[in-house]
Amino acid sequence: MKHYDLFIGGAAAKPQSGVWFDSINPYTGEVWAKIAKADSNDVSAAVASAKAAFEGWAGTHPSQRGRLLYKLADIIEANAERLAEIEVRSNGKLYAEMLGQLRYLPQWYRYFGGLADKIEGAVLPTDKANIFNFTRYEPLGVVALITAWNSPLLLLSFKLAAALAAGNTAVIKPSEFTSASALEFAELCVQAGFPKGVVNVVTGLGAETGQILCRHPDVAKISFTGSDATGAKIAEQAGKDLKRVSLELGGKSPNIVFEDADQEAAVMGAISGIFAASGQTCIAGSRLLLQSTIHDKFMARLLEVARAAKVGDPMNPDTNVGPVATEPQYKKVLGYLDIAKKEGAKCVLGGGPYTGPGAKGNLFVEPTIFTGVNNKMRIAQEEVFGPVLAVIPFKDEAEALAIANDIPFGLAAGVWTKDVGRMIRMSEKLRAGTVWVNTYRAISYMSPFGGYKRSGMGRENGQDEIYEYLQTKSVWIATETAAVNPFVMR
Ligand code: NDP
Repeated sequence: MKHYDLFIGGAAAKPQSGVWFDSINPYTGEVWAKIAKADSNDVSAAVASAKAAFEGWAGTHPSQRGRLLYKLADIIEANAERLAEIEVRSNGKLYAEMLGQLRYLPQWYRYFGGLADKIEGAVLPTDKANIFNFTRYEPLGVVALITAWNSPLLLLSFKLAAALAAGNTAVIKPSEFTSASALEFAELCVQAGFPKGVVNVVTGLGAETGQILCRHPDVAKISFTGSDATGAKIAEQAGKDLKRVSLELGGKSPNIVFEDADQEAAVMGAISGIFAASGQTCIAGSRLLLQSTIHDKFMARLLEVARAAKVGDPMNPDTNVGPVATEPQYKKVLGYLDIAKKEGAKCVLGGGPYTGPGAKGNLFVEPTIFTGVNNKMRIAQEEVFGPVLAVIPFKDEAEALAIANDIPFGLAAGVWTKDVGRMIRMSEKLRAGTVWVNTYRAISYMSPFGGYKRSGMGRENGQDEIYEYLQTKSVWIATETAAVNPFVMR
């Protein structure tokens, strides 16, 4: 059994509480690792270590910061298989999916490593005589990075690469369910040559360790990925403490199929939107909006493909759908199946726990489809975060838009059509941070990602992200000194 300590000041550190908690493999149901539980003393030690490292790191030439990020990218590449396996052991997602993420991860460090020495201020042509004015971008200080369990290192890298490139130091709090990979990752930062204290990891429960970290007075910014409910709590406290905060939250994304779409491509897009990762992705296309004229034919093919999905061991390359990640998540998903049935939605596939071939442990849910859903039902309005699809019919483009936007969330949307004008109209009018047309679940380090409405605030990925971790300073230098009237503004 592997024991994981905290990671503070460039080395493993025993928790001062002397308490470790279990990390459970969702597929087998077995405890596979023990994770250190950080208390307020440990959090203070981690923040102090990040604070002590800040001046040195912020003062390191940006090209050198970039070189270290490049080196880290190469080391991640060499460790991709090992890290992917650890992630599968923690969250039960398919090895193929996690390995794909891990092999892609180095690009975040290369992209932001390349950006580190391209952060340029400006000389401003102000209207003041004999004054030279310029701007500089400066890092914030210690940033707290808090992540969800569904794609642990990918979600961390969405934050960490930009935060480090900008010159901040970090204290990471991964989900209690998937702490091991962040701790292994921190060791790779040492191998890459990052100075002590630039990257720290405190593990523990969200409502304890996470909350203590967010409230620490030396944390300058909180970057959070998780549910809208937790995000709201964090934003409320950050407001009281006047701390910066960015939030990547949940979604209930519409995947909209028009009658003129390539129907087979759209069927595959609908499947990938909800059954990939057992529906445990923030961008899940969990509302399938189908034009009434194609509803029945589309559903027949969708059911055929969904029924063929192989449920089982996430490490098996033939498996399409693994378990859900945690017991609370499993109970939540089953609860929504009952809610949908009571609301009058028609269950046309699945609808309960999966105990068939390939199942092990107690966390498998049948891939489930409800038809006859109306957009006011809870199954259409609330994030389930499981393999559960709500199918909603619509008449025309106007109705599709009205249904798609009638939701508190706005993370992503999919549109399937061959009509170019409609592609443009829909992409303009959908209230979501990402719109995919004739594709789904495409993500890149180069393209901004984030939510409208309750799906969050701030953006990750793309050049803009670096400014989430910088603050602007305006510098005024008099080019001629003169005694001026001190009682009026210059
Ligand atoms: P939670 O909100 O429960 O937890 C997210 C993180 O916050 C975890 O590390 C958790 O720790 C921690 N946490 C919990 N309570 C607090 C607190 N009071 N103060 C500080 N930290 C806290 O979300 P889940 O982990 O269940 O993740 C699923 C959610 O994440 C879904 O809503 C999903 O849509 C969203 N998500 C959003 C993404 C995006 O980019 N927009 C990407 C991926 C997921 P612990 O686990 O120990 O409780």
